[in-house]
Amino acid sequence: MSVQNYINGQYETPSSNEWLDNFCPATGEVYGKIPNSSKVDVENAYIAAKSAFPSWSQTTLEERSRILIKISELLEANLQRFAEAESKDNGKPVLLAKEVDIPRAASNFRFFGNAITQFASESHESVGHDALNFTLRQPIGVVGCISPWNLPLYLFTWKIAPAIAAGNCVVAKPSEVTPMTAYLLGEICTEAGLPKGVLNIVHGLGTTTGQAIIEHPDIKAISFTGGTATGAHIAKVAAPMFKKLSLELGGKNPNIIFADCDYDTMLKTTVRSSFANQGQICLCGSRIFVERSIYEKFKTDFVQKVKALKVGHPSESSTNIGALVSKPHLEKVLDYIEIAKQENGTILCGGNKVSVKDFENGYYLEPTVIEVITDECRVNQEEIFGPVVTIMPFDTEDDVLQMANKVKYGLSATLWTNDLKRTMRMSNQLQAGIVWVNTWMMRDLRTPFGGVKASGVGREGGFEALRFFTEAKNVCIKY
Ligand code: NAD
Repeated sequence: MSVQNYINGQYETPSSNEWLDNFCPATGEVYGKIPNSSKVDVENAYIAAKSAFPSWSQTTLEERSRILIKISELLEANLQRFAEAESKDNGKPVLLAKEVDIPRAASNFRFFGNAITQFASESHESVGHDALNFTLRQPIGVVGCISPWNLPLYLFTWKIAPAIAAGNCVVAKPSEVTPMTAYLLGEICTEAGLPKGVLNIVHGLGTTTGQAIIEHPDIKAISFTGGTATGAHIAKVAAPMFKKLSLELGGKNPNIIFADCDYDTMLKTTVRSSFANQGQICLCGSRIFVERSIYEKFKTDFVQKVKALKVGHPSESSTNIGALVSKPHLEKVLDYIEIAKQENGTILCGGNKVSVKDFENGYYLEPTVIEVITDECRVNQEEIFGPVVTIMPFDTEDDVLQMANKVKYGLSATLWTNDLKRTMRMSNQLQAGIVWVNTWMMRDLRTPFGGVKASGVGREGGFEALRFFTEAKNVCIKY
C-alpha cells in the first residue's frame, strides 16, 4: 500500500515522484512505498497552511474544540484498523497499539480539544499607576511538527493536536520508517470537517523533507521529537531564523530500586518499563540500579521473568515482544550487545536474534539483561533504544544518585521506595524532567513533559504545549 502526502485536504503524490520502500518489521518484506517529498512539496504544504491560517485562527474555540473531539471519536471508531496498521508498520504487538498507542492518539485530540476552552491568560493591575496589563495568547502561524518512529501516531498527534487547538496551521512530517497511521489520519481529519490546509502531512526522509521544513523561513516554530543528534542539528539550523523550538530528545533513564519497596509491584513494573514496545520508548528504564541487600534476589527473579517473555509475530495475542522497527536498528542494538561483552559485561539472558517460524526475515531480538561492572561503560552511558537493560548493585543513596546523574541525558527517572523523605530528597536531586515513584509511565496529559541536558529543551503537555504553540503579547492600558 502506497502512502501519499495530505496537502490542502487532498491526498497527492510527491512532485519529486521519488519513492522509498516501506518495510514490515515482522516479516522483513517491503509492503508499500513512501513519498520522499522535496522542497516543492513542503512549499505546497506551507502555502496551503498559510492560506488556511486567517480563517482557522479566527474560528471560535467551541468550533475548534468540536472538530478535535470529532477526530478523537473517529479514531476510536477506527481503532482496530489503526492498531493493525501501526503494528504492521512498526513491529509492535497489535494489542499494545490497540490498548495504548491509538487510544492515546485519540486522547490527545480530545484532551487538547477540551484544554483550549480552559486556556486562560494572565492579567495584572498595576496598582498606583492606573493601568491594567493583560496578555493575549496568539497562535504563531504556520508551525512544523516532526516525530519519530517508536510511538508513531501517539507522538505525531501529541504535537498536532495542541498546535491546531491553539489556532495554528501545521506542516507535519512523521518518521519515514512508520508513515502509515499518519497517512490514514488525513482521511479522518477530512471526515471530521477539519478545514483544508489546517493540517498538511508530508512524508519523506529527514535529510530531504524534514530539512526542508526546518529550513523554511516562514515556518516559525518547530516541535520535534527524536534523537539528540537530530535535535542539535535542528537547533543549529533554526537559530539564525529565531524559530521557536521544542525539542524532545533521547534518554538513558535510571530505574532505582531500594530494598524497602513493594517488591512484587516493582518487579512486574520493571519488566514492563524495561521491555514495553521492545524497549523502544524514550522513557524506558534502561539502567537498573538495585540496593545491594536485594540485588541477588532481584537478579534471579528478574531474569526468570524476562526469560518467560514471548518474542513473536506482533499479531499473535500471546506475543509480549514484537519486532524491532528496522534492520539497521536491529543491527545497532546487536552491536551494543557485542560492545557490552567487550566491556566485560555479563549477558544474564537474551543477546541473540530470534527466528520466528514463518517470519524468519523479521527483526526479532531476545529481551536482554546485561550485568555491568561499572556505570561508566558505554552500554550504560549511550542510548541503545532496544530490548536491552543493564543492571548493577549500589550501596548508598549518594552513590546511586551520582551514578543516575552521571550521563549526558536527563529525561526520566524511576524510583522504588516507601521512604517519603528519601523520595523527596531524590526527586529534588535527580537530573530528569520526569520522576516516577513506585510506578512507571503513568501519564496525566495535564502535566509538563520533557527532558533536561541532552534530553531536550522545553516542555510539552497540558498548558505547556498551548503556551509553546502561542505567542504571549502583553497589552498595557493606562486608564
Ligand atoms: P531521528 O532523530 O532519527 O528522527 C526523528 C524525526 O526527525 C524523523 O521524522 C526524521 O525523519 C526526522 N529528521 C531526521 N533528520 C532530520 C533533519 N535533518 N531535519 C529535520 N528532520 C529530520 O529519531 P528516531 O530514530 O526516529 O527516533 C528515536 C529517537 O527518538 C530516540 O533517541 C528516542 O529517545 C527519541 N524519542 C524521544 C522522545 C521524547 O519524548 N523525549 C520520545 C520518543 C522518542
